[in-house]
Amino acid sequence: MTAIEEMLNRNKTAAEYHASGLTPMPSKKLAIVMCMDARIDAHLAFRLNPGEIHLMRNAGGIISDDVIRSLAISQHALGTREVMIVHHTDCGLARLKEDEFRAELAKFAGYRPTWSIQAFLDPHDSVRESLRRVRDSPFLHHTDAVRGFIFDVETGLLEEVFVDEHPTGQVAAGADSASAAH
Ligand SMILES: [Zn+2]
Repeated sequence: MTAIEEMLNRNKTAAEYHASGLTPMPSKKLAIVMCMDARIDAHLAFRLNPGEIHLMRNAGGIISDDVIRSLAISQHALGTREVMIVHHTDCGLARLKEDEFRAELAKFAGYRPTWSIQAFLDPHDSVRESLRRVRDSPFLHHTDAVRGFIFDVETGLLEEVFVDEHPTGQVAAGADSASAAH
């Protein structure tokens, strides 16, 4: 049995518990952008119920053009106001080297991808970059209530990352007021 066939079988029993009759407008008015890492069960991590939030996942949980597209629809058409960015410890993207992996893909495909891998060494840096991209996006309605976190895959707990922290992890003087005013 392939993994997809197993999913089809699981769906038959899971559908018995499916919540119907909900509106597409998330009741918590929140969008969570998160890495696709298989160890993070978003529904368990935040005790989510159907209809509460928009969940957007990709490799790294980075703010790509496609995530901006989803956030724009989420905010302008479906009423969300807050954005939560969740990257994590031991991310697969931190094991890749941008140039090497791009060269590998180019060799495999015969030409270079038009997109960047967006590999990073420290998830603090990637969260800060993602926070800036959301805050600076001209397509979003609400860019003030955006917060970034690192999920510890061993403990299941979150550490908040602030956009004005120094790369060493120390918080810059006045960082809170500066980020609040951004
Ligand atoms: Zn990851």
